[in-house]
Amino acid sequence: MRRTKIVDLLKREDYGSQVCVKGWVRTKRGSKSVNFIALNDGSTIKNVQIVADAEKFDPEMMKSITTGACLSVVGEMVQSIGAGQNVEIQASEIELLGDCPSDYPMQKKGQTMEYMRQYAHMRIRTNTFGAVFRIRHNMAIAIHKFFHDKGFYYFHTPIITASDCEGAGEMFQVTTKNLYDLKKDDNGQIIYNDDFFGKMTSLTVSGQLEGELGATGLGQIYTFGPTFRAENSNTPRHLAEFWMIEPEVSFIDLPDLMDLEEEFIKYCVQWALDNCQDDLEFLNKMIDKGLIERLQSVVNTEFVRLPYTKGIEILEEAVKNGHKFEFPVSWGCDLASEHERYLVEEYFKKPVIMIDYPKDIKAFYMKQNEDGKTVQGTDVLFPQIGEIIGGSIREESYDKLMKRIEEMNIPMKDMWWYLDTRKYGSCPHGGFGLGFERLILFVTGMQNIRDVIPFPRTPKTAEF
Ligand code: ATP
Ligand code: MN
Repeated sequence: MRRTKIVDLLKREDYGSQVCVKGWVRTKRGSKSVNFIALNDGSTIKNVQIVADAEKFDPEMMKSITTGACLSVVGEMVQSIGAGQNVEIQASEIELLGDCPSDYPMQKKGQTMEYMRQYAHMRIRTNTFGAVFRIRHNMAIAIHKFFHDKGFYYFHTPIITASDCEGAGEMFQVTTKNLYDLKKDDNGQIIYNDDFFGKMTSLTVSGQLEGELGATGLGQIYTFGPTFRAENSNTPRHLAEFWMIEPEVSFIDLPDLMDLEEEFIKYCVQWALDNCQDDLEFLNKMIDKGLIERLQSVVNTEFVRLPYTKGIEILEEAVKNGHKFEFPVSWGCDLASEHERYLVEEYFKKPVIMIDYPKDIKAFYMKQNEDGKTVQGTDVLFPQIGEIIGGSIREESYDKLMKRIEEMNIPMKDMWWYLDTRKYGSCPHGGFGLGFERLILFVTGMQNIRDVIPFPRTPKTAEF
């Protein structure tokens, strides 16, 4: 008999039909004469209740049906009188597909997130992580739909790269060389010409530079792929391997870029509210009581647009009025997360798009303003998360870009192809990068970025 997914079964009303469901036991309770088994197959946060009369089944087999065991059940769909669900199954056949010994690590409810992380291969079977990963899937779909509907092309940028100008010092090297026997030149520098690519290569820290090549040919593109940063920052917001979405748009200016950022995030959040209701309700109840309200409020408020200089004034004013920050704040400094969160959570109580940053704290490719001091960067700052998006209008003038590259000592030896965009038919353009897991953190109310990606990679952890 063909299997019905629980998500589909729970919508049906053709009581009396014979059905087959397969899944994992969440709980079993009952008496000598009848057992009630809550079965979950991952298709929804909801379980279906299996009613099994003891007399119909082998007592040994019934004993083996413990939390975590995998079953195939055939039976009659009956209307449920208990609260919660309309449908339950009166079992006629139960096959134990996989029993589950009592050392099953997901046995007990209410384990800490740290405990669950040690069993990342098993935590997927819990309510919380089921909800998180179903939402993660939905967000990926929302992202593709948003850009596709706007006429952006999904553009694949390389994961292995030879350009190291973006994240100097934060890259993972890629090599086939024998690390025990490295050939070096007279200065002690490693010789790469016999390595696989004939030069030093690394995992990408951003697809932006190649994304710009795409946008200046296809008009508007987005990337959505894995990104790697060997930053040794053990925070709840950083992973060594994460997923980034990077749209890049020709002929866009700063106000339109900010509109795109705001519209994009709101679209994704609205998508979750519309398509992940059951999972959000579960997370709202179990993880974060303010979650759904916060999501609704983001969809319904206009983001604040705040020049960096104004932001610094607000922060300095706060310090004057006695607010204590761990790090000092003055014009020219890079904002710490406590500063960002003060602006977003205490001062404005709304998401903030900060623009016009001092050029010295931003990347070389950002478009320089007339004032000679600031550049057209935009960071979107979010409650709970801090920076969720980093973007900018790009400098399209070849001369200004080259001057900045020289001032900042950027190694551009292998970057002739990037400069060609400014040399041949240069065009105004801009874009942004959104960290996928930071979006998932916001949408799920989870506290640690390690708990919104199935198998997190962080300093000293690469299990599974
Ligand atoms: P942060 O200051 O938080 O380290 P960043 O300035 O290094 O961020 P960008 O280089 O602008 O970030 O990258 C674009 C986006 O990628 C960020 O806004 C953030 O959402 C995400 N991001 C950056 N680094 C990480 C990381 N290590 N893990 C997860 N997401 C990240
Ligand atoms: Mn960073």
